[in-house]
Amino acid sequence: MLLVQNLPFMNIRTLSYLGRFAPSPTGPLHFGSLVAAVGSYLDARFFQGKWLVRMEDLDPPRMAVGAADDILRTLEAFGLFWDGEVVYQSQRGEAYRAALELLQQQGALYPCNCSRREIADSTLATTPNLIYQGQCRNGIRGGRLEHAMRLITDNNRIQFCDRLLGNYAQRLEAEVGDFVLRRANGLFAYQLAVVVDDAAQGITHVVRGADIVDSTPRQIYLQRLLSYSTPAYLHLPLAVNAQGEKLSKQTLAPALNITNPQPQLFRVLEFLGQCPPSELARANLTELWSWAVANWAVHKIPSQRALLASSQY
Ligand code: GLU
Repeated sequence: MLLVQNLPFMNIRTLSYLGRFAPSPTGPLHFGSLVAAVGSYLDARFFQGKWLVRMEDLDPPRMAVGAADDILRTLEAFGLFWDGEVVYQSQRGEAYRAALELLQQQGALYPCNCSRREIADSTLATTPNLIYQGQCRNGIRGGRLEHAMRLITDNNRIQFCDRLLGNYAQRLEAEVGDFVLRRANGLFAYQLAVVVDDAAQGITHVVRGADIVDSTPRQIYLQRLLSYSTPAYLHLPLAVNAQGEKLSKQTLAPALNITNPQPQLFRVLEFLGQCPPSELARANLTELWSWAVANWAVHKIPSQRALLASSQY
């Protein structure tokens, strides 16, 4: 057993930090994904933790051929070296099936064959996130045989304290509705896969974009049902363009330039409020990373859910 008193210079809370970056390989990395990669990397390295990479390639029709390899080469070119083997969600079907089975045994799931239109017609939501009203809770109606599997939610308040945004709470049944864990086409849903994988990899700290903060209470709910522990969460401001849209392939965010990483890393440090000294823009990668790790300060990150990315991207 490791005796803590023999490690006087280490903080007990950082002994087992395990962080991760979990891109969906739908295309090359852009400034917005670099923010999540750099933020999660710096937080892990600041706490002398490990930083893992997981490819969230769950949805074959959305995956771009060669994108996963391209992302890994880009991370390397930027000096973002990960620990251990890369995990691919496309190879983790057995683990997701087993978790679904456990939930099924608890009576927490039900089949649902509502079409998107039926769900939209019956929703109370005024936001783009449709709230499902539980039409199939008491059994599916005739018609379509294909069905999704939904998780029964309740109205207990699920709260967590984000390391940047502070307290965040949701009542899932009222604000989200019963949500899908296996889609009608047989594919597992992100919410299930992310929870199973974070637990299987022993992730202690999740650092990711604030577009996912709304999903975190669903993930905590699932962690509780599956008896997993809940990691610490830090949601970084989402990089948006002048129209307020998330930088993405759909909004035509340009790919990163792997031949000249320093200025792009410098802008990410600025975006994250780290106030890098201007000489750092011309420093080599080793110098840049050693400054960024030593000076990583979560309290300097703008505590906002979205932030305009410089128009150079
Ligand atoms: N795969 C998600 C994305 O690329 C990230 C999910 C997560 O970090 O939990 O936006």
